[in-house]
Amino acid sequence: MGNVIAFNDIVSVDDDSFSMSNGLTDVFIDYLLLSGSRLAKTESEKRMVVFLAEKQQTKVGMGNVGFDIVEMPWTSDTFETDKTFVLEMIHHARALTSEKRVWEKMGYEPGQEHLVYALNSFEVLIKRMSIKDINENNLENWLSAAEIDDPINTGFSQCPKHEVLLSLFGCKLCNDGR
Ligand SMILES: [Zn+2]
Repeated sequence: MGNVIAFNDIVSVDDDSFSMSNGLTDVFIDYLLLSGSRLAKTESEKRMVVFLAEKQQTKVGMGNVGFDIVEMPWTSDTFETDKTFVLEMIHHARALTSEKRVWEKMGYEPGQEHLVYALNSFEVLIKRMSIKDINENNLENWLSAAEIDDPINTGFSQCPKHEVLLSLFGCKLCNDGR
């Protein structure tokens, strides 16, 4: 079991998709969440982070959180700045992997080599994303599936303990006992 992140659902040998063990997936999401929650300023940037925060295997099942880059909440209105934001989130997450202060906060030291591999692979896929790959239905469906009290509809609150954005499942780090 594991999770696959791919560009879209067209599978080929050189499609840049990559797979992670369930354990690595959790670490990958944790670091993006720490990074993105600190950097996100606009609504569309916060939506990107919450999309990732929803990838909680303790809530949706182990090995059930793989996704395609084109499924992320892209919109042509803010595409360029959102793409820049996601690349900065990855860049900052990579920097956090070697910060002892972050290991202490999380209560574990990440397997840095694997984590950086996953972040680099994610970066390759994000760099490929272009405005013509956007399917606005994906954003509409994601927004319309959200309940009225979902954090994306109530001002994007953060966990006071972990300073990360909440998803419909609450704080991923609290849920994981961090
Ligand atoms: Zn928390």
